[in-house]
Amino acid sequence: MTANFSTTQSGAPVVDDSNSSALGRDGAIPLTDHYLIEKLAQFNRERVPERVVHAKGGGAFGVFETTGDVSKYTKAALFQPGTTSETLLRFSSVAGEQGSPDTWRDPRGFALKFYTSEGNYDLVGNNTPVFFIRDGIKFPDFIHSQKRLPGSNLRDADMQWDFWTLSPESAHQVTWLMGDRGLPASWRTMNGYGSHTYQWINEAGEKFWVKYHFKSNQGHETLTGDEAEALAGSDADHHIRDLYENIEQGNFPSWDLKVQVMPYEDAKNYRFNPFDLTKVWPHGDYPLIPVGKLTLNRNPENYFAQIEQATFAPSNFVPGIAASPDRMLQARIFSYADAHRYRVGTNHAQLPVNAPKNEVRNYSKDGASRFFFNSPQTPVYAPNSVGGPAADPSLTGPEGGWENDGDLVRAAHTLHAEDNDFGQAGTLYREVYNDAEKARFLETITGAVGGVTIADIRERAIQYWTNVDAELGAKLRANLGTASGAAQNSDAEAANKF
Ligand code: NDP
Repeated sequence: MTANFSTTQSGAPVVDDSNSSALGRDGAIPLTDHYLIEKLAQFNRERVPERVVHAKGGGAFGVFETTGDVSKYTKAALFQPGTTSETLLRFSSVAGEQGSPDTWRDPRGFALKFYTSEGNYDLVGNNTPVFFIRDGIKFPDFIHSQKRLPGSNLRDADMQWDFWTLSPESAHQVTWLMGDRGLPASWRTMNGYGSHTYQWINEAGEKFWVKYHFKSNQGHETLTGDEAEALAGSDADHHIRDLYENIEQGNFPSWDLKVQVMPYEDAKNYRFNPFDLTKVWPHGDYPLIPVGKLTLNRNPENYFAQIEQATFAPSNFVPGIAASPDRMLQARIFSYADAHRYRVGTNHAQLPVNAPKNEVRNYSKDGASRFFFNSPQTPVYAPNSVGGPAADPSLTGPEGGWENDGDLVRAAHTLHAEDNDFGQAGTLYREVYNDAEKARFLETITGAVGGVTIADIRERAIQYWTNVDAELGAKLRANLGTASGAAQNSDAEAANKF
């Protein structure tokens, strides 16, 4: 029979799980009770810092199968016809802390790791195709404005709307967020988007710009404001539970991956700056091309080890896929990997959930919690003349990249003919939302702007929506003008929930 007695961390047998050792039955506990001390010390260290953003989440493992043929656009092994790759997908909300309700109005993270034969490829997206800002220099300010006041530690409509209205590029994403899809019924019933523009490179070295769309095969289901609020109280973990239980029951959710592909040269004269994260590429200009299917089919066995410690980074590219001039993407390429080094540790990529399936060969060494190491015969530097691993440019062929004018400037990105902050937000409101959705949208923004207590900010918010759509702005003004004091109070509560 296999032994099943508990042990200390160093493997010594434990003789008592219930009683500490003490100097007599009613005496003090000595420092020599190493088992007790080790147990409490380990317990104190059970948490790593929660993510500053996307703290609350859940996820599952799955498989991605390339069913289409996009080989003329990318040489990436994972996107060659018939290839299957293991995956990990983590969903999350953005602003709330780890214990916050899943159903608060918020974008949802859609962070996907492909374990490919050429290394891990991470596509760290959201359930929205756009974002609030287009330059990473604003990101800490944006997040501060959506989180909590320093004094009261309360969320605050005044600072949310102050930031948004002073950052009009947010209008498209806020229009999306306040629409029905801002309250998904489950993670299974929403789309995922890579959001950024990326570069694809084919075998011949030709470059393309690409946007990723994961279309839910479960269809779209959303919650009303009242349903979301009720669930926030009755089942704060509603989305985690839904995903976990469906996978346990063998009801595996799936998404079809489609891409929009823009020829490299088109970017120069496209009507919008195609690297602006606050804009989509209208489907009429660049239609969706089928790539494959993502299916989630396995729950994590250990939430902490496999989800909390999972680290996704937009810097994890594979040959055939590269960055673009998108400024938010470039900021994230630094900040995600940096956050992981701080939060999980410099050797986070060695943890089983983060490690690639292929062999890692390089000269990085040491650091906290290192457990992978080269053989003592391997040199610790490159280049070397003793047969250590060496870079081989012929393996990957031409790399990604783009030409620019080379001047170092501190200025907004190049404006194209139809670039403005409100156009696509107006299109979403006028042309995508139906009448019922428009009515709910007006109700939502009335509640949200109704929570603003500073007159200047409230007026700016009305102007912001007037810029999205003049009629919408007029209706909002009328609603706010007639709202009773009582209604404004409950609106203020609602406004603090996204
Ligand atoms: P299309 O008519 O070709 O597509 C409309 C898009 O809107 C579809 O992707 C659809 O997603 C999505 N959509 C439908 N209902 C909602 C909703 N309530 N909230 C958010 N998105 C919704 O339009 P265009 O490509 O010409 O773009 C028009 C507008 O649609 C854009 O300004 C943008 O706001 C929005 N949009 C565009 C996307 C794009 O990449 N082009 C992606 C998502 C939104 P689905 O097909 O899954 O139902």
